[in-house]
Amino acid sequence: MAKSKYEYVKEFETDDRMLRNVYVLVRIDGKGFHKFSQTHDFAKPNDVRGINLMNHAARCVMNELDDILLAFGESDEYSFLFRKSTDLYQRRESKIVSTVVSLFTSAYVYYWNDYFTDLKRPLYPPVFDGRAVLYPSEVEVKDYFAWRQADTHINNLFNTSFWALVEEGGLTPKAAEARLCGTDSKDKNEMLFTEFNTNYSKLPAMYRKGSVLLREQILKDEDKDAIIPTLPETLPGSKSAKVVPALDTATTVPGLQSGPDPISGSV
Ligand code: ATP
Ligand code: ATP
Ligand code: MG
Ligand code: MG
Ligand code: MG
Ligand code: MG
Repeated sequence: MAKSKYEYVKEFETDDRMLRNVYVLVRIDGKGFHKFSQTHDFAKPNDVRGINLMNHAARCVMNELDDILLAFGESDEYSFLFRKSTDLYQRRESKIVSTVVSLFTSAYVYYWNDYFTDLKRPLYPPVFDGRAVLYPSEVEVKDYFAWRQADTHINNLFNTSFWALVEEGGLTPKAAEARLCGTDSKDKNEMLFTEFNTNYSKLPAMYRKGSVLLREQILKDEDKDAIIPTLPETLPGSKSAKVVPALDTATTVPGLQSGPDPISGSV
Protein backbone atom coordinates (compact mmCIF):
# COMPACT_ATOMS: atom_id res chain seq x y z
CA MET A 1 0.00 0.00 0.00
CA ALA A 2 1.34 3.44 -0.89
CA LYS A 3 2.35 5.70 1.97
CA SER A 4 0.02 8.60 2.62
CA LYS A 5 1.43 12.04 2.05
CA TYR A 6 0.99 12.75 5.73
CA GLU A 7 3.14 9.96 6.96
CA TYR A 8 6.33 12.04 7.03
CA VAL A 9 5.17 13.50 10.37
CA LYS A 10 6.18 10.18 11.95
CA GLU A 11 9.79 11.18 11.28
CA PHE A 12 9.44 13.97 13.86
CA GLU A 13 9.34 11.39 16.63
CA THR A 14 12.60 10.97 18.54
CA ASP A 15 14.29 7.66 19.20
CA ASP A 16 14.30 7.34 22.98
CA ARG A 17 15.52 3.76 23.30
CA MET A 18 17.58 3.53 26.47
CA LEU A 19 21.14 2.20 26.70
CA ARG A 20 21.31 -1.58 26.72
CA ASN A 21 22.58 -3.82 29.52
CA VAL A 22 22.08 -1.37 32.40
CA TYR A 23 19.41 -1.37 35.10
CA VAL A 24 16.32 0.68 34.33
CA LEU A 25 14.75 2.28 37.38
CA VAL A 26 11.34 3.93 37.12
CA ARG A 27 10.13 6.09 39.98
CA ILE A 28 6.59 7.44 40.21
CA ASP A 29 5.44 10.10 42.67
CA GLY A 30 2.03 11.52 43.49
CA LYS A 31 1.38 15.10 42.35
CA GLY A 32 0.27 17.34 45.18
CA PHE A 33 -0.31 14.48 47.63
CA HIS A 34 0.14 16.79 50.57
CA LYS A 35 -3.21 18.26 49.54
CA PHE A 36 -4.64 14.96 48.27
CA SER A 37 -3.99 13.28 51.62
CA GLN A 38 -5.59 16.20 53.49
CA THR A 39 -8.65 16.31 51.23
CA HIS A 40 -9.18 12.58 51.77
CA ASP A 41 -8.64 12.72 55.53
CA PHE A 42 -5.55 10.52 55.58
CA ALA A 43 -4.51 9.65 59.13
CA LYS A 44 -1.26 11.41 60.03
CA PRO A 45 1.55 10.64 59.87
CA ASN A 46 0.73 7.28 58.26
CA ASP A 47 -2.59 6.25 56.80
CA VAL A 48 -2.34 2.49 56.46
CA ARG A 49 -5.15 2.43 53.89
CA GLY A 50 -3.13 4.77 51.69
CA ILE A 51 0.01 2.66 52.04
CA ASN A 52 -1.83 -0.59 51.30
CA LEU A 53 -3.48 0.96 48.24
CA MET A 54 -0.07 2.11 46.96
CA ASN A 55 1.25 -1.42 47.52
CA HIS A 56 -1.70 -2.93 45.67
CA ALA A 57 -1.23 -0.60 42.70
CA ALA A 58 2.50 -1.45 42.62
CA ARG A 59 1.66 -5.15 42.68
CA CYS A 60 -0.58 -4.65 39.64
CA VAL A 61 2.34 -3.04 37.82
CA MET A 62 4.67 -5.93 38.70
CA ASN A 63 2.04 -8.44 37.72
CA GLU A 64 1.66 -6.89 34.28
CA LEU A 65 5.36 -6.22 33.61
CA ASP A 66 7.39 -9.38 34.13
CA ASP A 67 10.73 -7.63 33.76
CA ILE A 68 10.39 -5.74 37.04
CA LEU A 69 12.56 -7.47 39.62
CA LEU A 70 11.64 -5.52 42.71
CA ALA A 71 9.85 -2.43 43.86
CA PHE A 72 10.17 -0.11 46.85
CA GLY A 73 7.42 2.18 48.09
CA GLU A 74 7.12 4.96 50.64
CA SER A 75 4.65 7.81 51.08
CA ASP A 76 3.29 8.73 47.62
CA GLU A 77 6.17 7.24 45.65
CA TYR A 78 7.17 3.86 44.23
CA SER A 79 10.39 2.75 42.54
CA PHE A 80 10.45 -0.14 40.05
CA LEU A 81 13.69 -1.90 39.08
CA PHE A 82 13.78 -3.61 35.68
CA ARG A 83 16.23 -6.34 34.84
CA LYS A 84 19.26 -5.24 32.84
CA SER A 85 18.28 -7.25 29.80
CA THR A 86 14.70 -6.04 29.52
CA ASP A 87 13.56 -5.49 25.96
CA LEU A 88 10.16 -4.14 26.90
CA TYR A 89 9.03 -1.75 24.12
CA GLN A 90 12.58 -2.08 22.76
CA ARG A 91 13.58 -0.10 25.88
CA ARG A 92 11.79 3.01 24.63
CA GLU A 93 11.76 5.35 27.61
CA SER A 94 8.47 7.14 27.04
CA LYS A 95 6.60 3.88 26.38
CA ILE A 96 7.99 2.25 29.53
CA VAL A 97 7.52 5.25 31.86
CA SER A 98 4.05 6.10 30.58
CA THR A 99 2.89 2.49 30.85
CA VAL A 100 4.09 2.21 34.46
CA VAL A 101 2.54 5.54 35.47
CA SER A 102 -0.73 4.88 33.69
CA LEU A 103 -1.17 1.38 35.08
CA PHE A 104 -0.22 2.47 38.58
CA THR A 105 -2.64 5.40 38.51
CA SER A 106 -5.57 3.45 37.10
CA ALA A 107 -5.01 0.65 39.63
CA TYR A 108 -4.87 3.24 42.44
CA VAL A 109 -8.31 4.51 41.42
CA TYR A 110 -9.71 1.07 40.50
CA TYR A 111 -8.91 -0.42 43.92
CA TRP A 112 -9.54 2.78 45.89
CA ASN A 113 -12.80 1.60 47.49
CA ASP A 114 -11.24 -1.69 48.65
CA TYR A 115 -9.18 0.40 51.08
CA PHE A 116 -11.15 3.62 51.59
CA THR A 117 -14.38 1.77 52.10
CA ASP A 118 -16.41 4.79 53.18
CA LEU A 119 -15.77 6.66 49.93
CA LYS A 120 -16.81 5.19 46.58
CA ARG A 121 -14.05 6.87 44.62
CA PRO A 122 -11.50 9.65 45.16
CA LEU A 123 -12.96 13.17 45.29
CA TYR A 124 -10.87 14.12 42.28
CA PRO A 125 -8.56 12.16 39.92
CA PRO A 126 -5.13 11.61 41.50
CA VAL A 127 -2.09 12.28 39.33
CA PHE A 128 1.32 10.58 39.38
CA ASP A 129 4.42 11.60 37.48
CA GLY A 130 7.21 9.26 36.44
CA ARG A 131 10.83 9.20 35.37
CA ALA A 132 13.40 6.62 34.30
CA VAL A 133 16.98 6.52 35.53
CA LEU A 134 19.71 4.18 34.25
CA TYR A 135 22.14 2.57 36.68
CA PRO A 136 25.19 0.73 35.38
CA SER A 137 25.86 -1.62 38.28
CA GLU A 138 24.62 -3.13 41.50
CA VAL A 139 26.59 -0.56 43.48
CA GLU A 140 24.43 2.34 42.28
CA VAL A 141 21.26 0.27 42.51
CA LYS A 142 21.94 -0.58 46.16
CA ASP A 143 22.83 3.03 46.92
CA TYR A 144 19.65 4.14 45.17
CA PHE A 145 17.46 2.00 47.43
CA ALA A 146 19.51 2.97 50.49
CA TRP A 147 18.92 6.62 49.52
CA ARG A 148 15.17 6.18 49.21
CA GLN A 149 14.99 4.24 52.46
CA ALA A 150 17.05 6.81 54.33
CA ASP A 151 14.53 9.36 53.04
CA THR A 152 11.69 7.23 54.44
CA HIS A 153 13.41 7.11 57.81
CA ILE A 154 14.13 10.83 58.03
CA ASN A 155 10.65 11.86 56.88
CA ASN A 156 8.83 9.36 59.05
CA LEU A 157 10.76 10.19 62.20
CA PHE A 158 10.11 13.89 61.60
CA ASN A 159 6.42 13.36 60.79
CA THR A 160 5.89 11.07 63.79
CA SER A 161 7.46 13.67 66.09
CA PHE A 162 5.59 16.53 64.44
CA TRP A 163 2.15 14.91 64.75
CA ALA A 164 2.82 13.78 68.32
CA LEU A 165 3.52 17.42 69.23
CA VAL A 166 0.42 18.65 67.38
CA GLU A 167 -2.13 15.95 68.18
CA GLU A 168 -1.01 14.83 71.62
CA GLY A 169 1.05 17.80 72.75
CA GLY A 170 -1.50 20.41 71.63
CA LEU A 171 1.09 22.55 69.82
CA THR A 172 0.22 24.52 66.72
CA PRO A 173 1.89 23.22 63.53
CA LYS A 174 4.13 26.28 63.57
CA ALA A 175 5.18 25.72 67.18
CA ALA A 176 5.77 22.01 66.52
CA GLU A 177 8.02 22.85 63.59
CA ALA A 178 9.94 25.36 65.71
CA ARG A 179 10.32 22.79 68.46
CA LEU A 180 11.84 20.26 66.02
CA CYS A 181 14.12 22.78 64.34
CA GLY A 182 17.77 21.77 64.84
CA THR A 183 16.98 18.40 66.44
CA ASP A 184 18.70 15.23 65.26
CA SER A 185 17.39 11.63 65.18
CA LYS A 186 18.52 10.98 68.75
CA ASP A 187 16.69 14.06 70.06
CA LYS A 188 13.49 13.05 68.30
CA ASN A 189 13.66 9.44 69.55
CA GLU A 190 14.28 10.76 73.06
CA MET A 191 11.40 13.24 72.87
CA LEU A 192 8.96 10.61 71.60
CA PHE A 193 10.00 8.25 74.38
CA THR A 194 10.01 10.62 77.35
CA GLU A 195 7.16 12.97 76.39
CA PHE A 196 4.84 10.73 74.39
CA ASN A 197 5.62 7.27 75.73
CA THR A 198 6.43 6.11 72.20
CA ASN A 199 9.29 3.74 71.42
CA TYR A 200 9.93 4.75 67.82
CA SER A 201 11.73 1.50 66.94
CA LYS A 202 8.60 -0.44 67.90
CA LEU A 203 6.38 1.33 65.36
CA PRO A 204 5.45 -0.81 62.31
CA ALA A 205 8.43 -1.44 60.01
CA MET A 206 6.27 -0.52 57.03
CA TYR A 207 6.00 3.03 58.39
CA ARG A 208 9.65 3.37 59.35
CA LYS A 209 11.23 1.62 56.37
CA GLY A 210 8.75 1.51 53.52
CA SER A 211 7.49 -1.50 51.57
CA VAL A 212 9.38 -3.92 49.36
CA LEU A 213 7.90 -6.13 46.65
CA LEU A 214 10.23 -8.83 45.41
CA ARG A 215 9.62 -11.13 42.48
CA GLU A 216 10.35 -14.77 43.01
CA GLN A 217 11.57 -16.14 39.73
CA ILE A 218 14.16 -18.28 38.07
CA LEU A 219 16.71 -15.78 36.85
CA LYS A 220 17.57 -15.76 33.21
CA ASP A 221 21.20 -16.47 32.30
CA GLU A 222 22.16 -12.88 31.62
CA ASP A 223 20.71 -11.84 34.95
CA LYS A 224 22.62 -14.34 37.05
CA ASP A 225 24.43 -11.44 38.67
CA ALA A 226 21.18 -9.59 39.30
CA ILE A 227 20.75 -8.05 42.67
CA ILE A 228 17.77 -9.99 43.97
CA PRO A 229 19.67 -12.53 46.04
CA THR A 230 22.09 -10.02 47.53
CA LEU A 231 20.26 -6.70 47.88
CA PRO A 232 18.51 -7.29 51.19
CA GLU A 233 21.54 -8.59 53.03
CA THR A 234 24.18 -6.24 51.77
CA LEU A 235 22.63 -2.81 51.97
CA PRO A 236 24.54 -0.51 54.30
CA GLY A 237 23.42 -0.73 57.88
CA SER A 238 21.71 -4.07 57.36
CA LYS A 239 21.76 -6.46 60.28
CA SER A 240 19.13 -8.96 59.36
CA ALA A 241 16.74 -9.60 56.51
CA LYS A 242 13.40 -9.31 58.20
CA VAL A 243 10.22 -9.53 56.17
CA VAL A 244 8.33 -6.27 55.84
CA PRO A 245 4.60 -6.85 56.28
CA ALA A 246 4.02 -4.90 53.12
CA LEU A 247 1.11 -6.95 51.88
CA ASP A 248 -1.95 -8.62 53.15
CA THR A 249 -1.08 -12.28 52.53
CA ALA A 250 -4.69 -12.99 51.60
CA THR A 251 -4.35 -10.79 48.54
CA THR A 252 -0.80 -11.71 47.55
CA VAL A 253 -0.45 -12.24 43.83
CA PRO A 254 1.26 -15.50 42.81
CA GLY A 255 4.90 -14.93 42.01
CA LEU A 256 5.21 -11.97 44.31
CA GLN A 257 5.84 -11.90 47.99
CA SER A 258 6.21 -9.24 50.60
CA GLY A 259 9.90 -8.65 50.67
CA PRO A 260 12.80 -8.32 53.00
CA ASP A 261 13.61 -5.32 55.06
CA PRO A 262 16.82 -3.93 53.59
CA ILE A 263 17.87 -1.67 56.43
CA SER A 264 17.38 -2.36 60.07
CA GLY A 265 18.30 -0.35 63.10
CA SER A 266 17.96 3.38 63.44
CA VAL A 267 19.86 5.63 61.07
P1 ATP B 1 4.83 16.96 44.64
O1 ATP B 1 3.72 17.16 43.69
O2 ATP B 1 5.97 17.90 44.43
O3 ATP B 1 5.31 15.54 44.72
P2 ATP B 1 3.52 16.44 47.16
O4 ATP B 1 2.50 17.29 47.87
O5 ATP B 1 3.02 15.17 46.55
O6 ATP B 1 4.23 17.36 46.11
P3 ATP B 1 5.60 14.88 48.45
O7 ATP B 1 6.95 15.39 48.83
O8 ATP B 1 5.59 13.92 47.31
O9 ATP B 1 4.66 16.14 48.21
O10 ATP B 1 4.99 14.24 49.74
C1 ATP B 1 3.84 13.45 49.72
C2 ATP B 1 2.90 13.86 50.84
O11 ATP B 1 1.78 12.97 50.85
C3 ATP B 1 3.53 13.76 52.21
O12 ATP B 1 3.72 15.04 52.68
C4 ATP B 1 2.52 13.07 53.07
O13 ATP B 1 2.00 13.99 53.99
C5 ATP B 1 1.39 12.66 52.15
N1 ATP B 1 1.12 11.20 52.20
C6 ATP B 1 1.39 10.29 51.25
N2 ATP B 1 1.02 9.06 51.63
C7 ATP B 1 0.51 9.18 52.87
C8 ATP B 1 -0.06 8.25 53.80
N3 ATP B 1 -0.14 6.93 53.52
N4 ATP B 1 -0.50 8.74 54.99
C9 ATP B 1 -0.42 10.04 55.28
N5 ATP B 1 0.08 10.98 54.44
C10 ATP B 1 0.56 10.55 53.24
P1 ATP C 1 -0.82 -1.65 21.15
O1 ATP C 1 -0.69 -2.09 22.55
O2 ATP C 1 0.35 -1.97 20.32
O3 ATP C 1 -1.24 -0.19 21.02
P2 ATP C 1 -3.58 -2.23 20.52
O4 ATP C 1 -4.30 -3.53 20.59
O5 ATP C 1 -3.93 -1.19 21.53
O6 ATP C 1 -2.01 -2.53 20.53
P3 ATP C 1 -3.94 -0.23 18.46
O7 ATP C 1 -3.24 -0.19 17.15
O8 ATP C 1 -3.59 0.83 19.42
O9 ATP C 1 -3.79 -1.70 19.03
O10 ATP C 1 -5.47 -0.19 18.13
C1 ATP C 1 -6.48 -0.01 19.09
C2 ATP C 1 -7.62 -1.02 18.88
O11 ATP C 1 -8.60 -0.75 19.87
C3 ATP C 1 -8.27 -0.92 17.53
O12 ATP C 1 -7.89 -2.02 16.78
C4 ATP C 1 -9.74 -0.98 17.79
O13 ATP C 1 -10.23 -2.23 17.38
C5 ATP C 1 -9.88 -0.91 19.28
N1 ATP C 1 -10.68 0.24 19.69
C6 ATP C 1 -10.24 1.36 20.28
N2 ATP C 1 -11.22 2.19 20.53
C7 ATP C 1 -12.34 1.61 20.08
C8 ATP C 1 -13.73 1.98 20.04
N3 ATP C 1 -14.15 3.15 20.56
N4 ATP C 1 -14.61 1.13 19.51
C9 ATP C 1 -14.20 -0.05 19.02
N5 ATP C 1 -12.92 -0.47 19.03
C10 ATP C 1 -12.01 0.35 19.54
MG1 MG D 1 7.04 14.98 42.54
MG1 MG E 1 4.35 13.83 45.64
MG1 MG F 1 6.66 12.04 47.40
MG1 MG G 1 -3.06 0.73 21.50
